[in-house]
Amino acid sequence: MLEHLRQQDPEVAAAVSAELNRQRNGLEMIASENAVSESVLETLGTVLTNKYAEGYPAKRYYGGNEHVDVAETLAIERAKHLFGAEHANVQPHCGSQANMAAYFALAEPGDKIMALDLAHGGHLTHGSRVNFSGKLYSFIPYGVSRETETLDLDQIRELALQERPKIILAGFTAYPRSIDFAEFKKIADEVGAYLMVDMAHIAGLIAAKLHPDPIAVADVVTSTTHKTLRGPRGGLILCRTEDRLRPNNKKNLAQRIDSAVFPGIQGGPLMHVIAAKAVAFGEALHSDFIKYQHQVIANAKELSSALIEEGLRVVSGGTDNHLVLVDLTPVGIFGQEASTKLDNVGIHSNKNLIPFDERKPTDPSGLRLGTPVLTTRGLCEPEMRRVASLIAQTLKANNESELNRIRSEVRQLTEAFPLYANLDYNHDR
Ligand SMILES: *Cc1c(COP(=O)(O)O)cnc(C)c1O
Repeated sequence: MLEHLRQQDPEVAAAVSAELNRQRNGLEMIASENAVSESVLETLGTVLTNKYAEGYPAKRYYGGNEHVDVAETLAIERAKHLFGAEHANVQPHCGSQANMAAYFALAEPGDKIMALDLAHGGHLTHGSRVNFSGKLYSFIPYGVSRETETLDLDQIRELALQERPKIILAGFTAYPRSIDFAEFKKIADEVGAYLMVDMAHIAGLIAAKLHPDPIAVADVVTSTTHKTLRGPRGGLILCRTEDRLRPNNKKNLAQRIDSAVFPGIQGGPLMHVIAAKAVAFGEALHSDFIKYQHQVIANAKELSSALIEEGLRVVSGGTDNHLVLVDLTPVGIFGQEASTKLDNVGIHSNKNLIPFDERKPTDPSGLRLGTPVLTTRGLCEPEMRRVASLIAQTLKANNESELNRIRSEVRQLTEAFPLYANLDYNHDR
């Protein structure tokens, strides 16, 4: 494979091939990553990338869209079916753009939006000062409770009553517990706010019905397609058709979402990615996908209890989803050094703030670990115990020979659970 690329541009080909090896030979535990199927990969590398298709199926600005229309319509219909949504927009290039379009459809610049504090697990696009969201809107952060490290809905309700935001946003980036969206809906109703859910991390669990459902209660649900959902890198927006707060608006909610995406913030859609989203949604409708998501959660729970047995502290005491947030303080090492050490033995994770962290984001007290990729590779509970032990050994290791031994154990595990066994970027087929 890659025969043309290897001939024409060996430098790029070498980088691509080296990345395949890196993915194969490491234990990928970055909670926001996954490994797509070969069908999704194939679709991404097709001539659909050539097509300009500004607009929506059957309402395009250029001609020649009859085939990409089929692909986009399949993606829309499958997304609606998978999540039980009234309307789907599959064009956002990524999760950040899905959020931008949702804000544009629901609020005016300067309006108040309530979202989880970034230091407690919120996302960059939920009001960071360096992001468009924090520059354009007035974000009001809510937090988790100090005792339980979980969402404090009473506090959130009080804050909402005080601030009367236009949007209440739920759905996070580093929150290991399930989210009671129905409770958020009650609060939104009480203060006359829209409820927006950003399910970027947990979309796969929601598709498999293993997490409380936001689609039934939220006005707008945004997502990525590449995290637990295991599709190509991209964004997705689901919404109701009618605007329940402003039913007399000239345009209904679905129309406002569509025009916020195009022409509001994007030009031509990435048709090769949209076709790959259709493939991924098709996979997610299959019963194997539910089994996979069950295992993702079972693995995270096993990893969490094994890490606790190894002497680490797990934020909130455990997990309900695909990720574990670890407090490294008990082992006397911090996020920066821990993630570097783990990278060096082939275990990839990311340093992360923990709630009420007294350290800086550049070297926080925590580490975020996820199970989606390892589960895609076929690792189960017994391997999670081994991985937890390797992580603890690495954090405590203080000499090179110990680290070498751990590195070779990691390698044994990755060889026992191969990734993309049929891909060969270095030889013709
Ligand atoms: C990952 C993520 C996003 C953004 O996704 P990108 O595709 O990286 O832009 C948005 N919201 C949440 C909660 C996320 O975790």
